[in-house]
Amino acid sequence: MFDVIIAGCGPTGAMLAAELRLHDVRVLVLEKETEPASFVRIVGLHIRSLELMAMRGLLERILERGRRRPAGAYFAGIDKPAPAGLDSAYAYLLGIPQPVIVHLLEEHAIELGAQVRRGCAVTAVQQDDGGVTVELADGEQLRTRYLVGCDGARSTVRKLLGVGFPGEPSRNDTLMGEVEVGVPPEEIAARMTGIRDTYKRWWLRPFGERIYSVVVPAAGVSDRAQPPTLEEFRQQLRAIAGTDFGVHSPRWLSRFGDATRLAERYRVGRVLLAGDAAHIHPPIGGQGLNLGVQDAFNLGWKLAAQVRGWAPDTLLDTYQAERRPVAEDVLDNTRAQTELLSSKPGPQAVRRLLTELMDLDEVNHYLIEKITAIGVRYDFGAGPELLGRRLPDIDVKQGHLYGLLHRGRGLLLDRTERLTVGGWSDRVDHLADPTAALDVPCVLLRPDGHVAWIGDDQQDLDDHLSRWFGTPN
Ligand SMILES: Cc1cc2nc3c(=O)[nH]c(=O)nc-3n(C[C@H](O)[C@H](O)[C@H](O)COP(=O)(O)OP(=O)(O)OC[C@H]3O[C@@H](n4cnc5c(N)ncnc54)[C@H](O)[C@@H]3O)c2cc1C
Repeated sequence: MFDVIIAGCGPTGAMLAAELRLHDVRVLVLEKETEPASFVRIVGLHIRSLELMAMRGLLERILERGRRRPAGAYFAGIDKPAPAGLDSAYAYLLGIPQPVIVHLLEEHAIELGAQVRRGCAVTAVQQDDGGVTVELADGEQLRTRYLVGCDGARSTVRKLLGVGFPGEPSRNDTLMGEVEVGVPPEEIAARMTGIRDTYKRWWLRPFGERIYSVVVPAAGVSDRAQPPTLEEFRQQLRAIAGTDFGVHSPRWLSRFGDATRLAERYRVGRVLLAGDAAHIHPPIGGQGLNLGVQDAFNLGWKLAAQVRGWAPDTLLDTYQAERRPVAEDVLDNTRAQTELLSSKPGPQAVRRLLTELMDLDEVNHYLIEKITAIGVRYDFGAGPELLGRRLPDIDVKQGHLYGLLHRGRGLLLDRTERLTVGGWSDRVDHLADPTAALDVPCVLLRPDGHVAWIGDDQQDLDDHLSRWFGTPN
């Protein structure tokens, strides 16, 4: 009997496994594929995800493997620098291959004690009052108290649960790959300049020695079920640029769509959904992986609390209540960005207008906080502006706040030096620090770094400790 089985060892599943292990939950991750993905999708880790990595002591290893880029220019690719004064110690984008992130997160989860079994596809799920029976493709049956479907856009777990996935089908498919080219770089750069003003949805960019990353629309080519061919890339390049740049020797070729869908529910009894299994949207703005990893961060400590027996009754349901609206918002911003990429006169005019509006600092701030998820505010009820938001990595007497969150516990940051976490001290740390760079007397942080309470009254604090951390010992 496992406490939690996770279907899928992508970024979401690996992050969740690590979060659960911080609380000694017995975790098994089942991954359908025997080997990690062969194609290299370069993704960007946005500010909030970098903050999560810092909160768990993972940032150094991740930074070593990625390339820092400026945080701006990610809303519909509109070329505006990030506004000054972004409220984060990690105000940049980290370009990093997705397989590297998955590898690092999986390695971290295993170091913490998670088991990962590859070549195991979940094919059937049955739940009862005591737990969930998970069946694998070879007929083996496993028993667990909870199951989380982190099994991607075509999630088997979601389908087996019968959870609806309404939304819009893909309208524009895109071909993507890595190839070599037969012409000098200057010729490519010269051709790209003019055409990119009208056609936003293609590129041919250097990517490592001799290799170019190529993206072209898939309109009118190949059967969606078949992998794309090099000849199809050539045809599309000729149609757009008048030349195929002599592309040859592909490393890999793939295809993706811009379907937009959101699961109707994130939880059915003992089975939950996270990451692409719960939401899909076009990759514009580079948010999908970030969103999934942040789902895992929100869910991990709550599910651990449920397993360990101290979760207040409603805690696990706050996962859907908090994360589904965030996904809805991401779906909407990708819909908007997709429109802004259209070459039609109407959307182009809106794009020009928005480009002008982004010169206003407030507009630029608003959009970047959306894309990077540092603007997320969970609804914890009425209260000061900071309530429900994440706290940046402020200075505290031991150095940096995030350095105190590596163990995934709650934290009372107490400038009054007279409050106590009493019977919750096995779940919540207490830092009495009059020097903390805060402009409120005291904050209670959840393990995911969101502000659960602000104040200076012990009784009020105790009420909120009960709300988030259950009954005291
Ligand atoms: C071209 C492109 C560019 C992108 N760029 C970015 C970006 O810059 N930033 C960003 O944040 N996001 C980006 N994304 C989105 C990102 O790749 C996804 O959102 C992310 O992979 C979702 O992670 P996940 O773990 O939820 O699902 P997945 O990565 O799909 O992982 C699911 C895992 O489950 C396994 N699985 C499936 N079925 C089963 C089963 N039945 N049993 C067991 N295992 C199973 C799969 O093999 C897979 O390993 C991009 C996507 C594309 C297509």
